[in-house]
Amino acid sequence: MQQRQVSSFLVDFWEKSIETIDEKKLKELQLERLNYSIEIAKKSEFYGQKLKDIKKIKNFDELEKIPFTTKEDLLQNNPLSFLTTDLKNIVRVHSSSGTTGRSKYIFYTKKDIENWADLVARCLFMVGIRKNDIFQNMMSYGLFTGGLGLHYGAEKIGILVIPAGVGNTEKQIELMRELKTTVIHITPSYLLYIAHYIEEIGLSPSEDFNLKTAIVGAEPYSENTRKKLENIFKINVYNCYGLSEMNGPGVAFECPYKDGLHLWEDNYYMEIIDPKTGKILGENEEGELVLTTLKREGMPLIRYRTGDLTKILRERCECGRTHRKIMRIKGRSDDMFIVKGVNIFPSQIEAVIMEFPEVDKNYQIIIDRKGGLDILTVQVEIKKEFFKGEINELRDLQERIKEKLKEKIFVSPIVELVETGTLPTTTGKAKRVIDKRRL
Ligand SMILES: [Zn+2]
Repeated sequence: MQQRQVSSFLVDFWEKSIETIDEKKLKELQLERLNYSIEIAKKSEFYGQKLKDIKKIKNFDELEKIPFTTKEDLLQNNPLSFLTTDLKNIVRVHSSSGTTGRSKYIFYTKKDIENWADLVARCLFMVGIRKNDIFQNMMSYGLFTGGLGLHYGAEKIGILVIPAGVGNTEKQIELMRELKTTVIHITPSYLLYIAHYIEEIGLSPSEDFNLKTAIVGAEPYSENTRKKLENIFKINVYNCYGLSEMNGPGVAFECPYKDGLHLWEDNYYMEIIDPKTGKILGENEEGELVLTTLKREGMPLIRYRTGDLTKILRERCECGRTHRKIMRIKGRSDDMFIVKGVNIFPSQIEAVIMEFPEVDKNYQIIIDRKGGLDILTVQVEIKKEFFKGEINELRDLQERIKEKLKEKIFVSPIVELVETGTLPTTTGKAKRVIDKRRL
């Protein structure tokens, strides 16, 4: 690949890389890069042993011989044992938000950073973001990949980037208004909070701002929440998928059709497996996403179990891109909780409650155990005008939400309606689930 410096050439490059890879060529490229990845991985201490008997792969079926790499592998081994090169060639490290105490470290060479920025730029370009846009990055900078990942990608396109970071809502709104921000990158819960805040100070989210696009990621959210956000701001909201182990954001991204996320198959080889048996599943079958980096040189990961549940969509996209799509992530297996023996994802609950027009933007799920029985409580914020209404109407609403939830998650919850502004708000990743059984 040549050096890419001239911006018109960059545009060309992304359009070509997205639009014109034919499926056969893509497969050849994947196979070639898969072998590259395996070879380079063998230089690391971790894979050196694990892959020593693996010869050149001639077709994708042979991959099954290669063991998975897991989160535990990353957590339990010395982080440096995954490096294929000397530390002096590493220019950046990120780390995942360790919910379980330990952290996973991901190392990048200069080329890895460049390549990642290219992928993010490709995503942004796909949804119509161009040089004249103003991009306010409202994700946390630092070890979390959401900040710098999008930052570098946006700069590649030549956009003005406002590295706003998370929090300080008043300042965020001032920046959006003063600098006429057109694109934001944000978590869904923070965007809902900002909408509420804007209304509170007497401004209109759709009329007093120049926003046209929001890139929303880092937490699972439902289609109903997307629609809600799009309506409040009169903007397009696009789903972004990534995980630090695979660089960060920019692994897969929605195109303007908003029906699944194109996963960049020239950079990642994807498989869907049955999370219990490890068996590879076909297209349109739901399971755990397993990814192999195809271009990363500092720290390749082979057959990495992401813990994310999705499926590969069989139907090709109307936009013409050949990179196959995955369904929006249903949830991380880590997010899932079990109540009365039933697996439940917060996103399922969210999808149900956001269907009710009376529901405002915030909710919380509390799980407790009394007398050996699990109790699931869903607290839902109700818009002020409804909350002040007739008590009977509120009871009726409470009952309808409860019934709908029961229908979807097969567990009968306690539904509590509270007035907007009652539940704790958050500016980073929302803590939607409080599991008191674990406290
Ligand atoms: Zn598409």
